[in-house]
Amino acid sequence: MGNYKEFYRRSIEGRDAFWAEQAKLIDWHRPFDSVLDYSKPPFAKWFVGGQTNLCHNALDRHLKERAEQKALVYISSETGQQQTYSYRELHAEVNRFAAILQSQGVEKGDRVIVYMPMIAEAVFAMLACARIGAIHSVVFGGFAPASLATRIDDAKPKLMVTADAGMRGGKIIPYKPLVDEALRLAQFPPEKVLICDRSLDKQLTRVEGRDLDYASLREQHLDATVAPVWLESSEPSYILYTSGTTGKPKGVQRDTGGHAVALIASMRHIYTGQPGETMFTASDIGWVVGHSYIVYGPLLNGMTTIVYEGLPIRPDAGIWWKIVAENQVNVMFTSPTAIRVLKKQPPEYLHKYDVSCLRSLYLAGEPLDEPTARWIADALQVNIVDNYWQTETGWPILSSVPGIEDTPRKFGSPSFAAYGFDLKLLHESTGQEVGVNEKGVLTAVPPLPPGCLSTVWGDDKRFVETYFSSFDNQQVYTTFDWATQDADGYYFILGRTDDVINVAGHRLGTREIEEAISAHNNIAEVAVVGVHDEIKGQAVMAFAVVKDPSRTATPEAAALMEKEVMATVDKQLGAIARPAKVHFVTLLPKTRSGKLLRRSIQAIAEGRDPGDLTTLDDVGALEQIRNAVAGK
Ligand code: AMP
Repeated sequence: MGNYKEFYRRSIEGRDAFWAEQAKLIDWHRPFDSVLDYSKPPFAKWFVGGQTNLCHNALDRHLKERAEQKALVYISSETGQQQTYSYRELHAEVNRFAAILQSQGVEKGDRVIVYMPMIAEAVFAMLACARIGAIHSVVFGGFAPASLATRIDDAKPKLMVTADAGMRGGKIIPYKPLVDEALRLAQFPPEKVLICDRSLDKQLTRVEGRDLDYASLREQHLDATVAPVWLESSEPSYILYTSGTTGKPKGVQRDTGGHAVALIASMRHIYTGQPGETMFTASDIGWVVGHSYIVYGPLLNGMTTIVYEGLPIRPDAGIWWKIVAENQVNVMFTSPTAIRVLKKQPPEYLHKYDVSCLRSLYLAGEPLDEPTARWIADALQVNIVDNYWQTETGWPILSSVPGIEDTPRKFGSPSFAAYGFDLKLLHESTGQEVGVNEKGVLTAVPPLPPGCLSTVWGDDKRFVETYFSSFDNQQVYTTFDWATQDADGYYFILGRTDDVINVAGHRLGTREIEEAISAHNNIAEVAVVGVHDEIKGQAVMAFAVVKDPSRTATPEAAALMEKEVMATVDKQLGAIARPAKVHFVTLLPKTRSGKLLRRSIQAIAEGRDPGDLTTLDDVGALEQIRNAVAGK
């Protein structure tokens, strides 16, 4: 055990030496010439000139010592399937998958969209892309065809990987019809679609010449060995789309070398996972947590990773603890929402299994409230580590770092800056650093450490303008979160500075949902806000103005219209963005210059003071919001 303050200091003041040391945790095919090229701020290139491969580091590197160790355990409480892959077996599957991709002409730098349920083949696909230097872009399976099409058009993939269907809560969800629809909507559809047929959707149809069957191609490549393609450290490994203030999602681009080093270092120092141990991250490969801590982190670190398809409460609320006990899980990672869901269940499930193997539970993605943290800490008798980060950073910005020093944690706080992050809390308008316990915007002085986004895919200008242009007098990375720091240095996150909503740890853009709702032909205007929700943290609430008022004139008509609006969102974005409630009004609160006053609407919807209203154009609009929320 060392001293975290000293470790952190070295990461900032002796930056290059610090990261050169961490870089020894992975294999380099060619050593790097310099640790950092920061000649074009704020673009940071880590481990310049070095050549490496993520898949080699996640699999091949371990074959000598741990070929027969479990690498991946796939468990589906939906289909009842369970399958274990040793490092040797996973390596073989990934080689087959890589050979299939190559047989379809996929080469280094080509994009591959992965639109998959939580099955082992999704992980094969990601690692196979990494092996041949193709850039994967995993799209969460819950996204609707229109969202998928937007991402396809931005990434312009050569090939897409999907499955016949997923399953959720015992219900089969066909994926292929969604893919067909997305490809119909897309301007730049991929030439080929590789389908993993799980025999769930009996109506699966294939398009001649475009759609390929994974099982038959796998048979043809059973003995394939595909040499890893060595990439220069800053060449891209993946793109992951995330929401912001505009309607257009941003493609977060991750590099190769910095990504590998950052993740393995975080596994050791933050998540305290040892090679040979087991990690269970209950998330989805469609999110950054899934990329970093279901797939790459644990495998880079020689651990066993659990890939779980299912809900936390099915067949009963003991399923996760059963998985922990049966697989001797040492480290677990999930979201506060999942714990709040479990908290509503009968407590006996928590004591049904022996979970003494579990050391720590890491929670991230949204604020962790104290009652939830205390409840799960008492119930499991394990360390609870609240860690704060973003799709953009790929690994924690704020966390305690128990692998270096087990500093005391404070409930409600994700502790302090992770090594490598030079953080500043800045006053929103002056850009001056705020004092102890004063609210400021959480920012990081660039260069950002390894593993963070290198740019926005295909749009360097957007990268600079979105993340580094919030303050006139300095170029800092903005997290878009408010925070305070107490006298002991602990940070507390207070919520977003922009109009982003966080539902169950998933980021949704208000503009995106508003645009989706506007696709309904009877909607003239709409405002979307996030309101406090006891389980999910926030819920989506919409206030809409209709074109034809007769369609909301009676409560029955309004209820019907609300259903239609919800269905429109399901179709445009997916059910995860569906508003929990749609209120109909005749006027929306705006400034005189026509800007929507979302924060005032949100305050009223949450029963808070709407704040300064001097710029409001028509007070009647706020009255309508108030009445709508009160059900008048
Ligand atoms: P995403 O990129 O979807 O993971 O969302 C990142 C956002 O989630 C952050 O900007 C925060 O607003 C929020 N967030 C993530 N982790 C935490 C945490 N531990 N505490 C509070 N908010 C968090």
